[in-house]
Amino acid sequence: MNSLPNNRWILTQDQIKSGQATDIYLERISGILASSGVDPLIRAEVRAGQLPEGWDWAILAGVEEVADLFQGLDVEVSSIQEGTSFHRNEPVLAIDGHFSKFAVYETALLGLLCQASGIATKSARIRKLAQGRPVFSFGARRMHPAISPMIDRAAFIGGCEGVAMATSAALLEEEPVGTMSHSLVMCFGDERAAFRAFDEHMDREVPRIALVDTLSDEKFGALAAAEVFAEKLEAVRLDTPGSRRGDFKEICKEVRWELDLRGYGHVRIMATGGIDEAEIISLNPVVDSYGVGTAISNAPVIDFSLDIVSVDGEPAAKRGKQSGGKTLWRCANDLHSDVTPRGSSPPKHCGKPMEEQIKPLVKDGNIVQMPDRPRVIRDRVLKQIDYLMLESDG
Ligand SMILES: [Zn+2]
Repeated sequence: MNSLPNNRWILTQDQIKSGQATDIYLERISGILASSGVDPLIRAEVRAGQLPEGWDWAILAGVEEVADLFQGLDVEVSSIQEGTSFHRNEPVLAIDGHFSKFAVYETALLGLLCQASGIATKSARIRKLAQGRPVFSFGARRMHPAISPMIDRAAFIGGCEGVAMATSAALLEEEPVGTMSHSLVMCFGDERAAFRAFDEHMDREVPRIALVDTLSDEKFGALAAAEVFAEKLEAVRLDTPGSRRGDFKEICKEVRWELDLRGYGHVRIMATGGIDEAEIISLNPVVDSYGVGTAISNAPVIDFSLDIVSVDGEPAAKRGKQSGGKTLWRCANDLHSDVTPRGSSPPKHCGKPMEEQIKPLVKDGNIVQMPDRPRVIRDRVLKQIDYLMLESDG
């Protein structure tokens, strides 16, 4: 019998830690530095020169994994806290050490930060647009399963209320969030029969959220669900296929009207399927919660770069980059930020000295800033969201 080696397309944490997730030119540079004896002390900083799609701000995520990557290495890493907002050109992380000690980690470092930060930022944007309506991360199925907990973590700390994947939820110390599948209705061949079976066989604490677009019209499906589940019905989920969507907002409005008219005002409406920023702005008046998949899990990455800013303590940078170590400051009052040369005294804003944001993360091989629990990081993001404007806010 033929068989394939297990997961040969997935690098293990040991392979990543040993520097195997590297672009070849970085490996070659390390070799040259070692052979030539030229191996200066470097300070390198991570920043994004541009943010995707004209975004004004982004949220840093992936710091916990970066700390893990650099643990045990002979370099010093400092970083802004995971879940902190930043703007283009602001340094978010710095590495001090001999370049030969960390050159082969550049590829992995950037990959960890770019993807997680893109997802956390998209999640925060959607959370802000939803104006308090819960948003759930349903996008694990759009990505490679090996990284789905990472994706769900970034989605959660960015502001999602919960995640659908059970393993991710367990790692986040949260309850997984799920509704009902089209396949359940298909197996029963009848929506009412599927609703009845769900109600009969599901634990009481599992919320009754009925999927109402499998076989019949959303309005009649919603009324059928309301009759079967009665006061236990928490929400109806509309996942209307694109080919039938027409004016999706009008469909949601009609469902709301009919439910209210028949005394089911307590039943909320959840929208899923192809939900992104524009859909949320449009649907907010009639929809109470969202399940978002691709828009969050496949969020644009933040194009961070790692740039040398000093060599043997002297400011030095390539064309297009500002030389010298930098400090990122933040006003605790209104999140106003400023960048100054490292070692400057704190600039003032709102009448007070601003706070330094880049703090030691790994020192002498040890993690000195232990990761916060996901919910703590998420709270940090939510506190900042009120101050962060979206382009659509004018
Ligand atoms: Zn201020």
